[in-house]
Amino acid sequence: MSEQNTIYTAGTWRSAASGASREVLDPADASVLAVVAEGGTADVDAAVRAARAAFDSGPWPGTPVAERAAVLRRTADLLQRDRERIGLLESRDAGKTLEEGRVDVDCVVDAFRYFADLVIGEGAGRVVDAGSPDVHSVVVHEPVGVCALITPWNYPLLQASWKIAPALAAGNTFVVKPSEITPLTTVALIELLAEAGLPAGVANLVTGAGDPVGARLASHPDVDLVSFTGGLASGTKVMRAAADTVKKVALELGGKNPNVVFADACATEEGFDTAVDQALNAAFMHSGQVCSAGSRLIIEESLSERFVAELARRAEKIRLGRGTDPGVECGPMVSAAQRERTESYVASALAEGAVLRAGGERPEGPGYFYRPTVLDRCHRGMRVVREEVFGPVLTVETFRTEDEAVALANDTEYGLAGGVWTADQGRARRVAGRLRHGTVWINDFHPYLPQAEWGGFGKSGVGRELGPSGLAEYRETKHVYQNLAPRPVRWFAG
Ligand code: NAD
Repeated sequence: MSEQNTIYTAGTWRSAASGASREVLDPADASVLAVVAEGGTADVDAAVRAARAAFDSGPWPGTPVAERAAVLRRTADLLQRDRERIGLLESRDAGKTLEEGRVDVDCVVDAFRYFADLVIGEGAGRVVDAGSPDVHSVVVHEPVGVCALITPWNYPLLQASWKIAPALAAGNTFVVKPSEITPLTTVALIELLAEAGLPAGVANLVTGAGDPVGARLASHPDVDLVSFTGGLASGTKVMRAAADTVKKVALELGGKNPNVVFADACATEEGFDTAVDQALNAAFMHSGQVCSAGSRLIIEESLSERFVAELARRAEKIRLGRGTDPGVECGPMVSAAQRERTESYVASALAEGAVLRAGGERPEGPGYFYRPTVLDRCHRGMRVVREEVFGPVLTVETFRTEDEAVALANDTEYGLAGGVWTADQGRARRVAGRLRHGTVWINDFHPYLPQAEWGGFGKSGVGRELGPSGLAEYRETKHVYQNLAPRPVRWFAG
């Protein structure tokens, strides 16, 4: 693949049919990192045709699972081989630290291996008792068909892989559309899939804007399923666009995630230090541009002053810089627009009475950097508490009782993830049981396991990625009822 030939259909790299291209910027200094093809509807149509043909008449859907799993495992091996190159590419494109880029590659390797193991370990179907020795009745799973996979800019490689690995394991073909802001590691992944031996036409890629590329994929009559990860506004558009053709739809949307800290978790110095450290990590990892960022600190009132003072002190010391520079702890925001959006949330919070305890400004110099920001004395009336900022902004709310803590944590239209910090194991289980969020971390924040489902309640989405449910999303279920001794039923007399 050469620069601008970033559209991949039927096993061939090419430029956009229109000849249009787009510059991809390095968010650390706004320099041009690469130039990619700016696809349009003609490119989507070509990619869908290729995926359709590969599904309807190609070998992949009927390839034995052992061979499909072998391609996934080879892909994992190739990702491991290229860990440094791809980790660096992700770091530069998305503005992560190099170590974050490497960890993303490791997580993706795990996901490919997990789905390979999962399909290998399954039976070929579930025999059900039809109540007669003359009937053989079995429930089997089949691939859905052509899948449109649309991904966001914050974890480009990871989000693409959480879709691609199960889609392939289940025997589907696909067209992936990465974010126009960070397409580079998805291009690299498609190259590796080809190197791993995936037949032409099974994997297709169209780089380009949400509208028209993503929009066309969501409404395309020859696409059977659309799996989307991104913001609520685009997600609802995708759902509407998919309605006319009654596609299967999976949505992984945003979050406004509570991190609930009870005073008993901080009764010892070690407990206090751990909870502060993890609250920082929850809120400011990848400049808070994480769907599951713990952006709402909900803390017991008696602990609040001491905890927030220490949190703010440490937030001020976070070292910002280009992700590849030694000692840098946090990279830039992904774009000028994302930083401006963050600034507008901070300004509105301050106008509504929030108290600034750290950050709240851009540092000097080039790039889209923004200082980790702590806003104290926040409440649900504030936009910054209700809406997803997707930037390095932590709001602080306080509670007095367990019931109040749960009510605050659930008082959101989202429901992606939440953390609970307590030394009381009974309370931990009680609160975890009452939280309306897809993932609850107790005395931790941010771990993801490929074998555990990921997804949200409420407006955080529809469906699940990872785990057995993450594979089930890419399957149709079929009941095959075989009568071994057919006889007339005589329902009609004549
Ligand atoms: P976004 O919604 O702007 O874009 C996501 C993708 O959708 C991009 O590829 C974009 O080009 C495409 N798109 C935009 N408009 C479209 C349309 N009308 N039809 C089809 N596709 C369209 O989101 P973003 O700004 O790239 O990413 C940030 C958002 O993603 C945040 O809200 C974050 O919470 C969410 N996210 C969620 C998860 C999760 O697992 N739940 C993970 C990562 C990010």
